[in-house]
Amino acid sequence: MKPIDRILQKSLSGGRIDVEECITLFESDQIEKIGDTANQIMKKWHPDPITTFVIGRNINYTNICDVYCRFCAFYRAPGSAEGYVLPDETIFQKIQETLDVNGTEILMQGGTNPNLPFSYYTDLLREIKKRFNITMHSFSPAEIMKMKDVSDGLSLEEVVRQLHEAGLDSLPGGGAEILDDRTRRKISKLKGSWRDWMDVMQTAHKLGMHTTGTMVIGFGESMEERALHMLRIRDAQDDVLLQKLNTPGFLAFIPWTFQPDNTNMKAEKVTPEEYLKTLAISRIMLDNVPNFQSSWVTMGPEIGKLTLSYGCNDFGSTMIEENVVSAAGTTHKVNVSSTLQIIREAGKIPAQRNTKYEILRVFDDENVKVDRDFVMQN
Ligand code: SF4
Repeated sequence: MKPIDRILQKSLSGGRIDVEECITLFESDQIEKIGDTANQIMKKWHPDPITTFVIGRNINYTNICDVYCRFCAFYRAPGSAEGYVLPDETIFQKIQETLDVNGTEILMQGGTNPNLPFSYYTDLLREIKKRFNITMHSFSPAEIMKMKDVSDGLSLEEVVRQLHEAGLDSLPGGGAEILDDRTRRKISKLKGSWRDWMDVMQTAHKLGMHTTGTMVIGFGESMEERALHMLRIRDAQDDVLLQKLNTPGFLAFIPWTFQPDNTNMKAEKVTPEEYLKTLAISRIMLDNVPNFQSSWVTMGPEIGKLTLSYGCNDFGSTMIEENVVSAAGTTHKVNVSSTLQIIREAGKIPAQRNTKYEILRVFDDENVKVDRDFVMQN
């Protein structure tokens, strides 16, 4: 049996693949075979032919950032005339608009703004929760580390605890990029080590919150670094399960691709084939993470459709704002109607879920239309 067949067979029969085997898969050109294995593993987790999506909104509350990642076209340095912090009323209005279209999730994400005190975040979360019944799936680990910096000596655990008590429900995995320090130093020297990113996530797990993991490929990282990234997420998820923490830990994994346009980094665009292969390998490697999200924002709806046969069971968010990615020149606007259509064209049944991946509504009739579609595109 060829090595790749042996590895795929092993993972199909419930065995774990190691870093060496993961690299062997990356070196293979048998994309369809790898995709088929990922698809079979996905079906073990999710036997029904359902593809979920969440109706949510990104709110980029500030673009001021002192981390200066080389790949980022979104940030403005402190003091820049183009820097902004959204007024609270604007944030409230965006949340109300999200609820008006049956949205359930707000993903607040911004730069690491050194001018905002820690109380800005806790006060804002409290005000949001007082006014709205909405899930706050917000703030990446880099923002949390900045909050710790400006918090006058609070520990990381105390920072996350206070955010959680104020209304932060779960953490998105933004800023993971590649969880290995060689590449991190190259692309965002000031962002902290992979261990910093993981410390924030593991602190959230310890406090009973769930998180998601992401990975961005296309920075010139080695295949070993991609494999180590996945291994580190898998190990942390093992900890959640072994310690029987009161959380599902990493509920989802979302690989996506670096978009080099309008940034200070020269890099080859990742091909759709490379993206699909990486997605499938991550489904195989991360055998303890239940959900895999398609990255239609960067890859477009047609590749998004294909991801549903390469290990994904989720079509992500019908986001109505995605300033960070769109600043780098790639935005694919997908509203609820076209989300339903694309999922159906891929032979699946669409269902709206919440942030915990609980199904809220199954669209099992072709004639089911959404009550009110997203038309807002800022
Ligand atoms: S990616 Fe995030 S942390 Fe890095 S410069 Fe952009 S806004 Fe700042």
